[in-house]
Amino acid sequence: MHQQLICANCGLEHPLDRLQNLCTACQRPLVARYDLAALRATFTPGVVRQRADRSLWRFHEVLPVDHPGQAVSLGEGGTPLLRCLPRGPFARFPRLTFKDESFNPTASFKARGMTAAVTRAAALGVRTIALPSAGNAAGAAAYYAARAGMECVLFMPQDTPPANIIESVVAGARVYLVNGLISDCGKLVRQGCQRFGWFDLSTLKEPFRLEGKKTMGYELALDLADPSTPDRPRLPDYIFYPAGGGTGLIGMWKAFDEMEELGWIDSRRPKMVLVQAAGCAPIVRAFEQQTRHAELFPNAATVASGLRVPVAVGDFMMLEAVRGSGGTALTITDEELLAGVHEIARHQGLYACPEGGAVWKAACHLVESGWLDPTAEIVLFNTGSGLKYNHLFEPRDLPVLDHTDPQCLDRL
Ligand SMILES: [Zn+2]
Repeated sequence: MHQQLICANCGLEHPLDRLQNLCTACQRPLVARYDLAALRATFTPGVVRQRADRSLWRFHEVLPVDHPGQAVSLGEGGTPLLRCLPRGPFARFPRLTFKDESFNPTASFKARGMTAAVTRAAALGVRTIALPSAGNAAGAAAYYAARAGMECVLFMPQDTPPANIIESVVAGARVYLVNGLISDCGKLVRQGCQRFGWFDLSTLKEPFRLEGKKTMGYELALDLADPSTPDRPRLPDYIFYPAGGGTGLIGMWKAFDEMEELGWIDSRRPKMVLVQAAGCAPIVRAFEQQTRHAELFPNAATVASGLRVPVAVGDFMMLEAVRGSGGTALTITDEELLAGVHEIARHQGLYACPEGGAVWKAACHLVESGWLDPTAEIVLFNTGSGLKYNHLFEPRDLPVLDHTDPQCLDRL
């Protein structure tokens, strides 16, 4: 259980025993702190590995619960780290892996954040959560709310992929479509929370989605440990991450600091590579312009709905992680990222989401520019399943065979 909640921007401490959203002084995200020195002796890689629990709650000492039995869990986390086979365009990358987050409940990494946030909200008596979502966060919130017996109110851009809308409605969420972007939906959520007393579960506007997402960093370090020394976690040389709100990237960066303080790893860090879509790249632009915060990206448009986030409250935290790691930030066009999805599917047997396609093509670009050594240990994040997107192929384009025609196979 966390011992402190402090503002990531101004450092102001906030009480633990009540609901918190943004910092009351500066309106920036709060982060949870743990007594890591006290945990060093008992919370070790060996102890975690021996636990039978296959969910991310096996890291419960650094999550917002007193014991794992308090968690609202659907078995999230513990996703595979898939080594890429040296085929086709992957042949020049001998040590490339995908952390495949499509294995989570509701088929995306959003489950990690929601299990932690809904757990803490339930413990503090929340009855109704509300959030904006342009994609996978909606479904994840809807199912964790259902599990917790809470109401869930969702505001989604009207052109959100139908699969995300359908799964949310099926779970009993109240879904409102909005003729705007996720930032416009976020404004309605804020007004609705004030008016109706809902709890705002927007990205980084409460402290615990970050805590759930950070477990990707813990898992990765355990996944990469040498089999001969399984209790010595290890980090890769590079992590490629598709950034919308950026909670996972910020969360992993936090996890690395925690693991160092726990004595799990040394001070070496992977270079963090932040990937956005060419049609919506506020953080990449701020990285290039060397500013601390990112301005709203005008006319945001991309088929990668998880990347269609024109403004992010945690912008400075993402930029700090990328810069602090010696990493970089770049954009990929929609055409390219969709081509990337097809390459991953055909050569690796993995049905990645468009964001997964984007990080793969980003790695290719950085090798071509000479920035990235393809023989380094590289982890790409596939944040969800390609199944929820309908931009990849149109089934109507396939020919239909007339099975009553004896000559139908002649057309093959
Ligand atoms: Zn503050």
